[in-house]
Amino acid sequence: MSTAGRRLGSTVFALVAAIALLSNCSAKVAGTASPLGQLDPGSAGGMPVNTGQSGPRPGVPDATLPVVNTDHGEMDRLAVNTISDVDDYWTDQLPKVFGRQFQPAATLTSYDSDGANVRVCAGRENTAGVVNAFYCNLDNSVSWDRGELLPTLVQNFGPLAVTMVLAHEMGHAIQTQLGPLSGVNNATPSIVLEQQADCYAGSFMRSVAEGKAKHFQMSTGDGLNKVLATTFFVRDDPGSSFKGKSAHGNAFDRVFAFQTGFTDGPKRCAQIDVNEINSRITETAFRNDEDASQNGNVPITVANLQIVAKALGDVFAKAAPPKLVTPLATCADAKTTSPTAYCPATDTVSMDVAKLKVIGTPTKKGGGIGDFAAFGEVASRYVLSVQKAANLPLDDANTGLRTACLVGSWGASMKKETDQLVLSAGDLDEAVAELLAPNSLIAADVNGKPAASGFARVEAFRIGFLQGAGTCTQQFGN
Ligand SMILES: [Zn+2]
Repeated sequence: MSTAGRRLGSTVFALVAAIALLSNCSAKVAGTASPLGQLDPGSAGGMPVNTGQSGPRPGVPDATLPVVNTDHGEMDRLAVNTISDVDDYWTDQLPKVFGRQFQPAATLTSYDSDGANVRVCAGRENTAGVVNAFYCNLDNSVSWDRGELLPTLVQNFGPLAVTMVLAHEMGHAIQTQLGPLSGVNNATPSIVLEQQADCYAGSFMRSVAEGKAKHFQMSTGDGLNKVLATTFFVRDDPGSSFKGKSAHGNAFDRVFAFQTGFTDGPKRCAQIDVNEINSRITETAFRNDEDASQNGNVPITVANLQIVAKALGDVFAKAAPPKLVTPLATCADAKTTSPTAYCPATDTVSMDVAKLKVIGTPTKKGGGIGDFAAFGEVASRYVLSVQKAANLPLDDANTGLRTACLVGSWGASMKKETDQLVLSAGDLDEAVAELLAPNSLIAADVNGKPAASGFARVEAFRIGFLQGAGTCTQQFGN
């Protein structure tokens, strides 16, 4: 969030007469197919959510592709097994979907960004200090940093984060081989190329989820959640332009591209073009120097939480808004969730500000996420009050997704030039990261039980953000 130009001294909760967003929008016509009918809390892109093992398959012999400069260590083993499975996938899919034979990468190079320099990419690139993985179309090669990038990915998101990142690089190989069939040429903007590569990676990861990959397996619950969360790590720096020379997209946009490939397969990925990008990309610059200097984050204070509550009051226009209190209060008719809880009996949102501050304050070590993560947690409890007023259940199978959707609709309302806090670059990414965290409340019911599918949580938030609160009760009615 960022502070807007005009500020009011008062943080009194205003009551604003406005449209009743929920009460008149919950009608559902029996038998009518919803355009997003597949979106249910137990489904990840059409696959049932499961809780199996995720990572390398035990007992499968390692692939034996040649790697330049390998140290034969764990990271290179992970990388080579990934490339081998990705090769198998495209060897099967490219002829089926595009009528083309797949060409594997001609050269694989491992390097340590902290070690000796290696010349890669037809001699055009140096690897010293380059914490990255990349595809080079000059010589059809893939290179990766085994020293810092891969271990960091594994440490933060598990081994499948490496699989996802290298599947993305091979996505560029696919795009290069397809050329016009993927709608790309030398003038195609970076963001289109990158969104396609994320999408191709998503389509490969579905085959992993389906148990078709030789070396890897992935649950559609926690396993896939972690892979999706990796987009927060590999996103562009907040405030970047999607028109930038090497734009990859923010996490919100990258996770969408990945999910598109996962759900709809590679043919759909090839259709991502400039027109589509212009119509849906959310990556945006910082609003002003102050916003940039704060990296789009305001401090998590009681005063700012009151501003958030006022904004929620404005957008949901409840005749009697819930009370916001500190500290966390126990409640007679629901579990006390942390760091914030909603109590239906007293219509109260209670908060542990110190814990919210931890979530809302990003640190170099990656402890906190950002202000929207903390404010989103509070918003999620607030919208339970909104649902209660509309006589919607607070603990049924759809409550989690409905809640995430309503939080998304509130996020969109914060784009407006209001008098206090405004949505800032990075906020939507923080929502994605928080939604995928194991204990997040943003997609959870009154007792803190989250929708099982992180995939569906992100989709529900996006639907609310793009289509507004009315859609939330239509899509996730009871
Ligand atoms: Zn890329």
